[in-house]
Amino acid sequence: MSKKNKKSEEGLTVKKKENFSEWYSQVLDKGEITDLRYGVKGFIVIRPWGAMILENMYKLYEEELQKRNHKPVFFPAVIPEKNFQKETSHIKGFTPEVFWLEKVQGEDKLALRPTSETAFYQMYSLWIRSHNDLPLKLYQRANIFRYETKATRPLIRGREFYWLEAHDCFATQEKAEAQVQEDIQITEEVMHQKFGIPFLAMKRPEWDKFPGAIYTVGSDAIMPDGKLIQQPSTHLLSRNFAEGFNIKFKDENGKEEHVWQTCYGPAPSRILASVISTHGDDKGLIIPFCISPVQVIIIPIFNKENKNRIIKEAEKINEKVKSTGIKSQIDASEKRPGEKYHEWELRGVPFRLEVGEKELKNKKLTLFVRDTKEKKVIGIKDISKLKKYGEDFDKRLKAKAEKFLKSRIINCKTKQEIKEIIKKKKIARVNFCSIENQGEKCAEYVEKEINAEIRGILANKKEKATGKCVICGKPAGEVVYVGKSY
Ligand SMILES: [Zn+2]
Repeated sequence: MSKKNKKSEEGLTVKKKENFSEWYSQVLDKGEITDLRYGVKGFIVIRPWGAMILENMYKLYEEELQKRNHKPVFFPAVIPEKNFQKETSHIKGFTPEVFWLEKVQGEDKLALRPTSETAFYQMYSLWIRSHNDLPLKLYQRANIFRYETKATRPLIRGREFYWLEAHDCFATQEKAEAQVQEDIQITEEVMHQKFGIPFLAMKRPEWDKFPGAIYTVGSDAIMPDGKLIQQPSTHLLSRNFAEGFNIKFKDENGKEEHVWQTCYGPAPSRILASVISTHGDDKGLIIPFCISPVQVIIIPIFNKENKNRIIKEAEKINEKVKSTGIKSQIDASEKRPGEKYHEWELRGVPFRLEVGEKELKNKKLTLFVRDTKEKKVIGIKDISKLKKYGEDFDKRLKAKAEKFLKSRIINCKTKQEIKEIIKKKKIARVNFCSIENQGEKCAEYVEKEINAEIRGILANKKEKATGKCVICGKPAGEVVYVGKSY
């Protein structure tokens, strides 16, 4: 017991700027997000504090999906092998990553889902009959399994992760493409506006799209080390899925047509990695107010004589805070106040209210603000203002993250400039020949000689290319973003 206390009391022993990778490991452990001692490569345990944050993230995400007419479903975690074979590029893309279950004599060979297109679409062919059944927009909350052979990293790259997947069907390609834009908007509303993680909506190059898609849009967020991390991606699927699974509808004239499909996959567990990395500091986690399991922690400051009275008053204040709709809690344990401050700062709780003799006498509480580390005074009668303070808290986190992303994007005109920018852990914005197949040679050059990737073009804003491709010198067709990634 005392050993564990001792450990958390030490706090973080590295600075985020100096050694991000070690900082990340420590903050997951000491901030009580994960435990990595399960003993199977790529599989981790998410602890209560991490799980409660994830729950809140799911809630906000699902609210947004439902607001935009998606309905929830739950599908089995196993998918028969024959389903995978119905779309050839999909099976080619995913087979190396699939966990197969041992085959039982006389039954189909089964896979643990690496993603659920081939599970959903089997049922879609039964459920969709006429144009009246469209659009069909369903999603599930699920854990999925991928046999990662690369190095795994908790919440960033694992063999199991927690995500949402939406699978939508439409009568026309235009409607499906509008859904891709709506998916980008959902990412914007939730991941950026609520969790404070800005991103570049990148239409991926042809050679980097989802297996079975016409095109893919990935949301690239930036990590403190300058690397990009792909967050939710959305795909306009080719009709090969609809053909393979026989998903057809009768249009107004009674003519049978295959549906157009999209799929969208935000992984709250991976977004949590961005939330932790983007907002945290050298004292530990900083959790956005809107998803923090405890938004206000109340610390009573007492001695033997006044303990009961102070706790009683703190409870009254707790009730008052709760009545404004805020999640608050009292830490009335026997630890020293300083120790409690430290622990709740490490866990990233946005606000701390200190309640002691002096505060009660003046009817004014000491308010500590986690991100700015300011101590303010708040009148007991002004407790309802905490809600507004919470909104301001999230706005500050978001603004800081936006400023960081913006400062990392640099226009480059030569190969040499790209090289230098990548070395400086930034993102290069360059004129490029094409993200269709004819541009792949230039992308290979970037990978080999500069050790970076062509991430794509903005999918929600047209940027006009000028001059020549910075790599091959042919006329530039696109403005692409070049960076390193997780
Ligand atoms: Zn080129």
